[in-house]
Amino acid sequence: HSQERLFNFAAGPATLPESVLRRAQSELFIWRGSGMSVMEMSHRGKDFKSIIEKAESDLRSLLQIPPEYSVLFLQGGATTQFAALPLNLCRSPHDPVDYIVTGSWSDKAFKEAQKYSKPNPIWYLHICANETIHGVEYKTYPTPLNPNAVLVADMSSNFCSKPVDVSKFGVIYAGAQKNVGPSGVTIVIIRNDLIAQAQDVTPVMLEYRIHAENHSLYNTPPCYGIYMCGLVFEDLLEQGGLVEEAAKENMVQLKGHRSVGGMRASIYNAMPLAGVQKLVSFMKDFQAKHA
Ligand code: PLP
Repeated sequence: HSQERLFNFAAGPATLPESVLRRAQSELFIWRGSGMSVMEMSHRGKDFKSIIEKAESDLRSLLQIPPEYSVLFLQGGATTQFAALPLNLCRSPHDPVDYIVTGSWSDKAFKEAQKYSKPNPIWYLHICANETIHGVEYKTYPTPLNPNAVLVADMSSNFCSKPVDVSKFGVIYAGAQKNVGPSGVTIVIIRNDLIAQAQDVTPVMLEYRIHAENHSLYNTPPCYGIYMCGLVFEDLLEQGGLVEEAAKENMVQLKGHRSVGGMRASIYNAMPLAGVQKLVSFMKDFQAKHA
């Protein structure tokens, strides 16, 4: 292993901004005069409270999240939300819901929902905003015909990659490890009126009401991951927010997903422009040689 950083095109965990990693490195041992690392501090102490509150408020600024929405920092990955959503949004396993299946991830979400709801006529509509494996991304989001219907989106692979009108959604959720931090943190943005009594069988760790009432501190949260997400949010804000623009030399992780093969370059926010330029020129050379 060399000391040089590679252009990492992995789908997730994915590359993080160098400035963020360097900042974390400088604070790793002692966080800002606290005498300890973020990994060691109590999640109930004032230092961690300031970290999680700043992470939330920076994310609210970035996405202009309206006040009537809660932001939850959870664990278990986006995959856990596939079950949490029907458990929380449906009163019983007989409640009808709609899923649009555009690829592997929405298919997984749909299959999980079958255990806890009856996927079909519209009560809520679930979409995957960007199918990471199949490369299918919504450019505009569907507006359910029924005004009471709730739009739910898995934004795992395009979260914070561009502005989004949060008010169009009932729930947005995303694993952090592609655009905004390390794995281990799952972000849920949910309209408060949807935080109600979950189905009786819902495990406490999957209940949105519990996490909202406890400001994501019901149990020990993924403290260090939340801290890292906070650094990324701060970095994005410093760069001016979610502006435009959101890599076999030094380019790694270009192989397609194990289920479909081919080639895939994941270009999340933290991929530097130089990495993309290098990939483009590599592909042009390759085409010229093999056409
Ligand atoms: N949804 C989408 C769109 C994804 O790309 C992924 C992971 O790659 C997942 C869900 C699963 O996320 P997690 O590994 O956080 O459970």
